[in-house]
Amino acid sequence: MIPLEQALQLLDENVTPLPLTDIPLASSVGSVLASEIHADVNSPPHDKSMMDGFAVISNDVNNGKKTLVVVETIIAGDWPQHPIEPGQASRIMTGAPLPRNADAVVMVEQTEFESTDGCQRVKLLIDSIAPEKNILRQGVNFKTGQTVLPQGHIVRATDIGLMAEVGAGIIPTREKPTVAVLPTGNELVDHQTKPLRGQIRNSNGPMLVALAQHFGLEVTDLGSSVDDPTQLANLIETGLQHDVLLLSGGVSAGTMDLVPGILKDLGVVEIFHKVAVKPGKPIWFGVHNCEGRKRYVFGLPGNPVSSLVGFHLFVRRAIEKMLGSQGDQIPTEYGELNIQHETRGNRPTFWPGKRVIDDQTIRRFEPLIWRGSSDLFALGEAEGLIRFRENSSSHAAGEKVEFLPFA
Ligand code: AMP
Ligand code: MG
Repeated sequence: MIPLEQALQLLDENVTPLPLTDIPLASSVGSVLASEIHADVNSPPHDKSMMDGFAVISNDVNNGKKTLVVVETIIAGDWPQHPIEPGQASRIMTGAPLPRNADAVVMVEQTEFESTDGCQRVKLLIDSIAPEKNILRQGVNFKTGQTVLPQGHIVRATDIGLMAEVGAGIIPTREKPTVAVLPTGNELVDHQTKPLRGQIRNSNGPMLVALAQHFGLEVTDLGSSVDDPTQLANLIETGLQHDVLLLSGGVSAGTMDLVPGILKDLGVVEIFHKVAVKPGKPIWFGVHNCEGRKRYVFGLPGNPVSSLVGFHLFVRRAIEKMLGSQGDQIPTEYGELNIQHETRGNRPTFWPGKRVIDDQTIRRFEPLIWRGSSDLFALGEAEGLIRFRENSSSHAAGEKVEFLPFA
């Protein structure tokens, strides 16, 4: 058994980023930018109106002019044909380019538009207007050539809009790892089956598939394997065609825990087995090198919450490194324990918890009622895992803790 920090370091040393690639904008959510994104336009591209109304010279309004001659109507997509002169205004729609000389827009609700004898006028219902009111100048959001997203940034749905705005149709990133999921155990039945005596539904499989999908990866569900060397070896060989193979069960010290031995027989090099963490101690991690491409194998413990903790602590970290994230992207939160809490054992303990919203500026986290590594029921309310330090079973309210959010 090795300390958690050592296991994380070994993971970092052994996992390498996947090759560079370019992908279409539309499928880039979740990928990591391999280089900066630059603007090829100003934003906004021209001085523009933020309101439907009338573009004016603010001096006119502030000098008591009440009625202005309307020289044209500018709608979004048009380009103004007439500069406005003192005593004039242009009718303008939201987003439309501002005519020359205008320095403010009076919103339509503060005007009365008149059109008589082919002459258009606007009566202003206000006495003053500040220069620059209701207009946005060219390039105030960002300028041509500016970096709008840094290298290493993880693309979120909101970034898609920005990248579309700057014409970034092809996104520089790294290949995404493919993932295979293979739970093991004689006792497992599919979730659509009613378990017979001694059986249990395979909850890890669907959960691990969903977790990997949640982080934007393509996942192959290999079903499950019984604890039989031949079937295990065959299915693991299939799984080794993927960048990441997530096994669950069969990595402890029982007579049917065949997974580590079979992995070794198949040439997967063990990097670590058993980590001082609770739950999830039996975790196994190894690397398979096949024609220059590395495959990463995680043997997660069978109990569902152990698998879940293993995923969040180790698998996520490996995935992020493969995707090209720089540094530790897992967004640990720091705060205080909300209530007194007891843990057992001398390993760092990851306990399901939730954030507490109160009027304090300090973040607080509350451990949930949880009966251990088989208890997924407790996770319903959980937003993440509270990390309790080792060598202490009694944790007072106010103790400093770390919180690892699920998403
Ligand atoms: P193991 O790590 O194989 O010794 O399994 C530890 C415990 O987790 C046992 O009680 C198993 O029944 C349970 N378990 C193993 N695999 C799964 C699974 N895929 N879904 C739900 N529980 C499981
Ligand atoms: Mg088992």
